[in-house]
Order: sequence, then structure tokens, then C-alpha cells
Amino acid sequence: MEIKVLGTGNAFNQQSRMNSSFFIHSGDQNILIDCGFTVPLALHNENIDPSSIDMIFITHYHGDHYAGLSSLLLSLKYIYKQQKPLKICGPGDVKSKIRELLSVLYNGNESLLDELAIDFFSVPSEGGLLTIGEIEVEVYKMIHSLKALPVGYVLNLNEFKIGFSGDTCWHSGVEQFLSDCDKAIIECSFSEKIGEGHISVDELEASAKIQQKKKDIYLTHLYSESSKKAKDFGYNVLEDGDRLNFKS
Ligand SMILES: [Zn+2]
Repeated sequence: MEIKVLGTGNAFNQQSRMNSSFFIHSGDQNILIDCGFTVPLALHNENIDPSSIDMIFITHYHGDHYAGLSSLLLSLKYIYKQQKPLKICGPGDVKSKIRELLSVLYNGNESLLDELAIDFFSVPSEGGLLTIGEIEVEVYKMIHSLKALPVGYVLNLNEFKIGFSGDTCWHSGVEQFLSDCDKAIIECSFSEKIGEGHISVDELEASAKIQQKKKDIYLTHLYSESSKKAKDFGYNVLEDGDRLNFKS
């Protein structure tokens, strides 16, 4: 399995980091995790044809995680000519959420969602195990802005479990999520705890579970202070354009 790191930034693109997003190639599947504002540009930079994507997983409905779907879907109609069906998976009523997005950003193009070959999979925001296509997916409830329906995913790809936390504060569910992964990409927005929306390096340092799995976790959703402190403490800190290769 190869993962191309399309972005490792937060909502504000600090340090010129693109929005946090990952492109996975596993077997014959191309999977995109999150699709924020900058993802269509990042796909161009990586020479990835959007019509090659089989599945998109959205972790929550904030712009830095799903707003790029609007132009990506438009491009499948007008630029790339969709070659194969696309599965889009997200918490709650994912199709309605994307229709709302299109109605704001490209008003009048909402019919795209029915014209393109898209299967929408609503995943439970409270968590649960489901099979999407041929992939077993465990969904984890995360704690972030409640209205954004935050979830994390663990994808079982050829018996290798790779986890994506999405945005979340530190909570006991993150430790359970980590226990269920072989490798995990988790957010680390802050150096010290601030509020209840994101994880900090200090909270990672205080967790026995994190220390036990430190070599198996990779940090994203970073900015200058969190990335520097995490590097100083020996964490795997992702950068835009990185490649991760995992053998199942
Ligand atoms: Zn975010």
C-alpha cells in the first residue's frame, strides 16, 4: 500500500501546508481521505487524475476537509470525463451535505450528483463497522465541532488496518481507535492543550497508549509550533508530498 500525502495543514494553511488529505493506492483501489479546499490543486501537483479515484472518505463537514469536492465533482463532468463509478462515504446524510455545498459554491449544478455515477454511503456518526465495496471500514465517533459530524476511519486494506483520525480533541475514544490500527495518521494541531477541538503534543506525551505505538503513528493537521515540538519529541511528523509505504 502506498500513501501519497496531499496535505498536512490545518484550515489556515500555515507554513504553506495544504489541507490535510491522503491518497491511498492499495491493490487496484485508489482511495482519497478528505477533500478540502486545496485537494484539487494537490492532485494536479501529484499528477493524479481525479477520475482514477474509486472511493472518497470524508471525516467531517468543515471546508478544509470537504469543500474541494465541489470543484473535483465539476471536473469529473467537464474536464476528466468520469471513467468509472465513484463511492463517496461520509457521516450522516452525505449526499445532502454535498448538495448543500454545491448549491452555495456552484449554484445550479446540484444535478451533478445524479448525472455522475456516484454511490453515496452514509456512515454512522456514532460509529460502527460496515463494508463498503470490498473494504471493511470501522467508523469511530470523534469529538470536534458537533455540527460537523466528526468521525475517524480504520480501513482494513488486505488485512492491514490503517487509521485516519480526522479532526478531534484528545479523548479515550482516540486510544481505542489507535488500539485497532496497525498504523494511524492522527491530527496534532497544537503544542499545548487549547480548548476541546484538537489534539496537542502535550496530550500525546501524556498518553501511555501513544508512547507504546509512537513508531506507528504519523502526525498531520500541523502548524509551526506543533510540528517543531513534535519533531523535538521524536514523533513521525508528516510533510506535504511525503510517501508512506506499508506492507500488508
Ligand atoms: Zn481541519
